[in-house]
Amino acid sequence: MNVLLTGGMGYIGSHVAVVLLQAGHHVVLYDNLCNSEIETLARIEQIAGVRPTFIQADIRSAKALTDALKHHAIETVLHFAGLKAVGESAINPVDYYANNVGGTVSLLEAMRETGIRSLVFSGSATVYGEPQYLPLDEAHPLCATNPYGRTKLHIEEMLRDLSASDPLWRIVCLRYFNPVGAHESGLIGEKPVGTPNNLMPYIARVAAGELKELSVFGNDYPTPDGTGVRDYIHVMDLAEGHMAALGWLTGHPGCHAINLGTGQGYSVLEMVKAFASASERDVPYQIAPRRAGDVAACYANPEKALKELGWQAQRGLPDMCASTWKFVSSRPEGRG
Ligand code: NAD
Ligand code: UDP
Repeated sequence: MNVLLTGGMGYIGSHVAVVLLQAGHHVVLYDNLCNSEIETLARIEQIAGVRPTFIQADIRSAKALTDALKHHAIETVLHFAGLKAVGESAINPVDYYANNVGGTVSLLEAMRETGIRSLVFSGSATVYGEPQYLPLDEAHPLCATNPYGRTKLHIEEMLRDLSASDPLWRIVCLRYFNPVGAHESGLIGEKPVGTPNNLMPYIARVAAGELKELSVFGNDYPTPDGTGVRDYIHVMDLAEGHMAALGWLTGHPGCHAINLGTGQGYSVLEMVKAFASASERDVPYQIAPRRAGDVAACYANPEKALKELGWQAQRGLPDMCASTWKFVSSRPEGRG
C-alpha cells in the first residue's frame, strides 16, 4: 500500500515507518523537521533496508500536501504531525491550535481534494481527562484538561463530524497511553530537546549521568506506593498496532476510537527500579511535590484493540527500559 506519514520523522512515526517498510509498504515521510532530525532518514533505511521517500514540508501547506498525495498515489494517511508538550501548550496555545487543529484541517482539505478517505490519527489517552473509573475503555467520557489535550479532542470531534457527513471515510483515532522505549537496534528512539518533561527520558538522562537526580512528583497518591501510575507501552508494540489498524481500516468505514495500551500500570518508583536494573546504573531520586494537573493513575482497557485489530502489546517493562538505555547510551553525549 502507498502510505504517507505526516510527522513521520518523529519518535513514533519513525518506528511505524520501519515496521511498514519491513512489511513491504511504500512509505512517504512528510515532516517539517521542527522536532526531528534529517539523520533519522538514514537510520530508518539502515534498519529497514529500504529508504523511504522524504518530503520536508509543513502540514499547514495544503498545496504541498495535495502534491505529495497525488504524486505518490497515496491510499492511506497516518497523521502523527503535531506539537505535543503539555506545558508549552499552556504558554503558546495559539501555536498548538494552529499546528495541531489547523494542520489537520489542511490535511483533510488535501485528502478531500485528492479523493483519499482513509486516515489513522495519533490520538491520546489525555482525552479521557481525570479518570472516572479504571481501566479506561473507549466509552469513558471525554474531557481535556490543557490546551494540548483540547487540540486532540477537537481533532477527534472534527473527524467524527467528517465521518458523519460522508460515509466513505474510514478513520481510526488510536488513543496512545504512554509510549516509551526504542527500536532494538538503538538507532532510533525518543530524543527530547532540552530537559525532558516525561518520566522515561528523564530517568534515562539521570542514569546516563547527564542529570543529577529525578524528582518524583508526589508520593501521597492513592496508589500502592503513593507515586503516580501509568500504562507504559513499548513504541515497537505501538508501531505494530498501527500496522494492524491499517489492515483493519480497509473493511471498516466510519470513525473509530481504539486504545493502544497494555492494560498494566506501573508506578514511578517501579519505573526507577526497572530502569536501574536494565541499565545497571544508579537512578538517584528525591520526593518532590505533586505536579499540577497530574492524575493518580491512568491505564487502558486494551480489549477493543484485541477484539477489533487482533493486536495486543507483547513487550514488557524490562524491554522498554533496555531499549531506551541502548538508544540513550549509544549517543555520544549519553555515555556518562
Ligand atoms: P514527535 O515530536 O517526535 O513527532 C512529531 C513529528 O511531527 C516531528 O518529527 C515534527 O517535526 C513533525 N511536525 C510537527 N508539526 C509539523 C507540521 N506542522 N508540519 C510537518 N511536520 C510537523 O512526537 P511523537 O512522540 O512521535 O508523537 C507523534 C504524535 O503522537 C503526535 O501527534 C502526538 O501528539 C501523539 N502522541 C504522542 C504521545 C507521546 O507520549 N509521545 C502520546 C500520545 C499521543
Ligand atoms: N513524573 C515524575 N517526575 C518527572 C516526570 C514525571 O515523577 O520528572 C511522573 C508523573 O508525575 C507521572 C508519571 O511520572 O506520575 C508519568 O509522567 P509523564 O509526564 O511521563 O506522563 P503523563 O503524566 O503525561 O502520563
